[in-house]
Amino acid sequence: MIDSRPLVDSFGRLHNNLRISVTDRCNIRCFYCMPADNVEFMDRGELLTFEEIERFVRVAAPLGINKLRLTGGEPLVRRNLSELIGRLSTIEGIDDIGLTTNGILLADQAADLHAAGLARINISLDALDPIRFKEVTRREGYEKVLEGIEAARETGFDPIKINAVSIRGLTEDQLLPFGRLARETGIEVRFIEFMPLDADNAWERDRVLFASEIRERLEAEFGPLVARGRTDPTAPASQFEFADGVGRVGFIASVSEPFCGNCNRFRLTADGKLRNCLFSLEETDVKELIRETGTDEQIVEAIAASIHAKAEGHEINTARFIQPDRPMYSIGG
Ligand code: SAM
Ligand code: SF4
Repeated sequence: MIDSRPLVDSFGRLHNNLRISVTDRCNIRCFYCMPADNVEFMDRGELLTFEEIERFVRVAAPLGINKLRLTGGEPLVRRNLSELIGRLSTIEGIDDIGLTTNGILLADQAADLHAAGLARINISLDALDPIRFKEVTRREGYEKVLEGIEAARETGFDPIKINAVSIRGLTEDQLLPFGRLARETGIEVRFIEFMPLDADNAWERDRVLFASEIRERLEAEFGPLVARGRTDPTAPASQFEFADGVGRVGFIASVSEPFCGNCNRFRLTADGKLRNCLFSLEETDVKELIRETGTDEQIVEAIAASIHAKAEGHEINTARFIQPDRPMYSIGG
């Protein structure tokens, strides 16, 4: 055994948050994530089944995992996702299940997901304009996302958060519309800095719209933003509300203000690899352990080894940085 507390890494960070990718497939093609065409997807036989994911979580929960987030690829293209949520929500110790989705299929599934035990939804939407939406995603679907957001509200999901990746030279004109949306609807809009995890390997620092600049532009239009007390110090977003009390926004400043020191997450990819960091160059294969040969103890050992090997932080801001081979859609963002 590497550590008597298997989910504490060598920098003392306790991990209680597991992000599970259920597929690498997606119904759109955001340029900062996937190639536009000819994507090579995992063979379906490579994907962990719901039973296998459930087994993994049953082993991880007694170690201290209590928060799950399902992601992808687009998790709602995985058939019967609500069945998986139902299975996971019965596992002792799991008290929070979230979903990150592009929202295109949400209108049809929101009620089933909610009934199955899904607590929280983050919807990714980078533009409040169909033309910009298509420029980012290279596909249609803007109206469907709006319908999905409305369905999530009607179903009673609370909170609903919108995640918007902000790209210099492309979505700057969306900042104020998103500010207005936050103020008019009560939805929290979180601006995410563009990270070097794109399939095309075309990330450039110049294209990152930094959180500090976004904040300045919002404040120039809507007045000062006031920091909200952090209820969860491990949350990646710094959260603010406008000084008049109307509207909440957040910033996920992964590039300009890395939050690695408080990281409590690790990831299980759709093909059964454990990743201790988005930017990790190594991963631990647990698929065969989960699938057939492994005992629960061996799975615990694999989790502990992965957590123990976690680096202190990403190196995006250094000359040493190497972009991982797996792009975001295949890791599970
Ligand atoms: N398909 C779902 C969605 O888009 O919400 C879930 C998977 S997606 C990979 C998860 C999140 O990662 C989305 O909010 C997306 O905008 C974000 N993302 C993807 N590539 C990114 C990148 N290169 N930099 C920053 N965020 C990225
Ligand atoms: Fe699909 Fe999400 Fe990647 Fe966009 S960010 S291509 S919606 S997986």
